[in-house]
Amino acid sequence: MKKKKYLIGFLLLLTSLFLAACGSSSKEESSETAGDEKEKNKGEINLYTGRHYDTDQQLYEEFEEQTGIKVNVIEGKDDELIARLAREGEASEADLLVTADAGRLHRAKEQELLQPVDSDVLTENIPEKFRDTDKTWFGLTKRARIIVAHKDRVNKEDIQTYSDLTKDAFQGKVLIRSSSNIYNQSLLASMISIDGEENAKDWAKGIVDNMARDPQGGDRDQTKAIASGEGDVAVMNTYYLGQMLNSEEEEEVKAAEQLEVIFPNQETTGTHVNISGIGMTTSSKNQENAKKFMEFLTEEKAQKEFAEANYEYPVNPNVEASELLQSWGDFKEQDIPLNELGENNDRAIQIMNEVGWK
Ligand code: FE
Repeated sequence: MKKKKYLIGFLLLLTSLFLAACGSSSKEESSETAGDEKEKNKGEINLYTGRHYDTDQQLYEEFEEQTGIKVNVIEGKDDELIARLAREGEASEADLLVTADAGRLHRAKEQELLQPVDSDVLTENIPEKFRDTDKTWFGLTKRARIIVAHKDRVNKEDIQTYSDLTKDAFQGKVLIRSSSNIYNQSLLASMISIDGEENAKDWAKGIVDNMARDPQGGDRDQTKAIASGEGDVAVMNTYYLGQMLNSEEEEEVKAAEQLEVIFPNQETTGTHVNISGIGMTTSSKNQENAKKFMEFLTEEKAQKEFAEANYEYPVNPNVEASELLQSWGDFKEQDIPLNELGENNDRAIQIMNEVGWK
């Protein structure tokens, strides 16, 4: 009886030792994998981007090869990405935001979603006017907001400035998208900077008076309406013209080929230029690597690929534009710090409402 008790006791002891051993070893193992995973993810950066180009992906891979830092890409619509960042707050996994228009980057800054970045590489590669004075955003690519006119129906000499769009000769002929879009808000904001509020308002009123139709669609749709004869002149960003000329849709190519490219205000204040840009999020957990990526995108090699993916101009002045863009010729840019586009944004929207720009 006594012997049997000892035996049971011994067996229990063995079992518990065995279980303990298993337990501890499996615990160690799992904490080790978690550690590895953490170590592995530690260097990775998460990019929220409004860009959707295959060539961008190649660039991210090149960066990974060069630095060993993986870039996880979350694509979305520009305004939605900013709303998402605001919703996620400090808990956001995002390290970087790439979005179009300085006015939009300014909105992200105002909501305290971006943090300042100190970098000699960035200040060297990006001209001063194309980066935020508080260092929260930096331009990566440039686009011009130009006028296009039907080659045969319009005499190019009659339309050399943004103001020319408001002349009586173009009554019922002007095609331009709605005031809810940031591009026209920024265009008007630039005029507030350059010509003052009163003149900017007169211009906006003149545009509304000359509209061929209530604003509808994007920039490309305005030029299609020229092709169909609804109007003769339109305002558009340069990269849309590049996209249309290289489109797989024959209708787009045809519409684009009928257009005269006009860089407005060459004798005066210059053509409105805006950017797509990048900022480091306030929530970034990998600031060092995020900064490396920002710098990488402004270097000469990356600049060319990044800009050309969307028929844009490189922001780095040492890099040449693509052949197509060069074929449109050099042009004089508006000379204002793009910070002002964001600062004047509220006023621009107000003016558009006042003059009835839908
Ligand atoms: Fe666009």
